Amino acid sequence: DRQKHIRNFSIVAHIDHGKSTLADRILELTHTVAERKMKAQILDDMPLERERGITIKMNSVEVHYDGKDGQHYIFHLIDTPGHVDFSYEVSRALAAADGALLVVDASQGVQAQTLANVYLALDNNLEILPVINKVDLPSADPAGTKAEIEDDIGIDTSDAAEVSAKTGLGVADLLEKIVRVIPAPTGDLTAPLQALIFDSKYDPYRGVVLSIRLKEGQVHLGDRIRLMNSNMDYEVTELGVFSPDARPFDELIAGDVGYLTASIKDIHSARSGDTVTSAEHPAEKPLRGYRPMTPMVYAGIYPTDNAKYNDLKDALDKLSLNDASLAYEPETSTALGFGFRVGFLGLLHMDVVQERLEREFDLEIVITAPTVTYHVVKTDGSQESIANPSEIPDASSIKEIQEPFVDATIMVPEEYVGAVMELSQAKRGIFQTMDYLDKSRVNVKYKMPLSEIIFDFFDKLKSSTKGYASLDYTVAGYVASELKKIDILLNGDKVDALSFISHKDFAENRARVVTGKLKEVIPRQNFEIPIQAAIGSKIIARTNIKAYRKDVTAKIHTGDPDRRAKLLDKQRAGKARMKSVGRVEIPQEAFMAILKNG
Ligand code: GDP
Ligand code: MG
Repeated sequence: DRQKHIRNFSIVAHIDHGKSTLADRILELTHTVAERKMKAQILDDMPLERERGITIKMNSVEVHYDGKDGQHYIFHLIDTPGHVDFSYEVSRALAAADGALLVVDASQGVQAQTLANVYLALDNNLEILPVINKVDLPSADPAGTKAEIEDDIGIDTSDAAEVSAKTGLGVADLLEKIVRVIPAPTGDLTAPLQALIFDSKYDPYRGVVLSIRLKEGQVHLGDRIRLMNSNMDYEVTELGVFSPDARPFDELIAGDVGYLTASIKDIHSARSGDTVTSAEHPAEKPLRGYRPMTPMVYAGIYPTDNAKYNDLKDALDKLSLNDASLAYEPETSTALGFGFRVGFLGLLHMDVVQERLEREFDLEIVITAPTVTYHVVKTDGSQESIANPSEIPDASSIKEIQEPFVDATIMVPEEYVGAVMELSQAKRGIFQTMDYLDKSRVNVKYKMPLSEIIFDFFDKLKSSTKGYASLDYTVAGYVASELKKIDILLNGDKVDALSFISHKDFAENRARVVTGKLKEVIPRQNFEIPIQAAIGSKIIARTNIKAYRKDVTAKIHTGDPDRRAKLLDKQRAGKARMKSVGRVEIPQEAFMAILKNG
């Protein structure tokens, strides 16, 4: 009977359309959080999420709702991130739900990620309830937004809710619609347990905390459970729901979304996508699980202190539990020592991983410039996948280098189509199609090198369309391009971690920009440091870092001890992320110089 009163749904939308704010209002109206504890985007509880104002991790919460029909309902809502780099979070959240609230900003209308999220929801056979948000804004056009949802997506909007997540207008009605439109979970309470692990995190005291959606059966405190794919048995030590803090229960039943701990210390046995079953009465087969994610970009991560290699390994193991899209394997660099080649879904993801490693694991790391994976076809006919530019073999043994291309879809108001095309062309894009979505909005499609998209395409797209363009892309395949490996030499020595790949037409300019940037960021030493960029043995750009003359603090009046102390502090802080390569100290920024396009 309880099952009939459960509603499991995810909140999905394009970034900034108001998912987390809507979750706030739902938590508030259902008195899930005490008034004095309430704050904006309360589910964004990671410090990094609060600082940046974005959702990075999904969050599931149980809320209780007394319906107008006099019945008591239990909602499990899962807030999700909107940025493309975190779409794996969204797809895992959707597999735990029976429905999705599709939030669309009424002043912006349907955007590229709105569509991408709809496809994800449809893949999971979810009931989609459109929610037209921000109706309080003067520029809101709820009727037009509904028409877009009907025309562009093909979803019926007769049940759509019109709300302001900011003021709370319409949210009470939305709760009623959730009861009516989102289906109750099904699942046989007497069947053998099958629970999907859709997220997990490491807790030093309790071991791995699994977020689970029970599809069949039930689980009780003290039960012997089995993780089916890893074939490990454990005893349940804690069960419960997040509300939003952990609230322990004695049992969870088919249809519930909650968490489970079982003193699981072996991180590798508790992966997202695995199925929890009963050790005594195991299910016949595991649930479908998730497609593993293919990283879009790779970078090297090294501890600044070589002795911290094992700490870094341990941190990556633990972080990858909570970030299922993280991929990594050991690599060595002549310049940087022992580290890892890590795969990411994009640059924002890379940034977040770097920050989390430093904050949550108290590590000092350097991260090398991101790169896509290249396919190198050699003259002997063999082919290699290479995700580290320094590993690209000598030009004489290469027949061709292929790079990943994507199908990019750009949604933009008509007046910016010219700007979009100009930019796409400059980034080596190949025009495909252009369709009018309605009389003022256009869908422009290009085939484009992934490397160009990743670096600064999105920022440039936003600035050249006053923020109106939205972008989505999927990998289309590998295409041969005229690519060159550019090596960087400091003080005459090649620094493998600074090698990068560029299209031949951009090579000289990139080499000049990169060497110039390196000159800016590498601190002076008491000797001159030549910086050179080379293709093979041919030097294509060069500059020098002059030797410093005197103590850097000398030019400050010694009578000002405050300033002197501040300067020294600043130097120390700047040192935090430096790596010595030979006699030269290379700061973190130097590795990112390669992303500069001049
Ligand atoms: P998310 O990325 O979809 O989770 O979006 P957020 O909930 O973080 O909201 C993005 C921004 O939109 C924030 O500045 C919110 O205050 C604002 N916002 C959200 N809902 C509304 C609304 O109904 N009206 C107005 N005016 N602003 C809103
Ligand atoms: Mg959010």
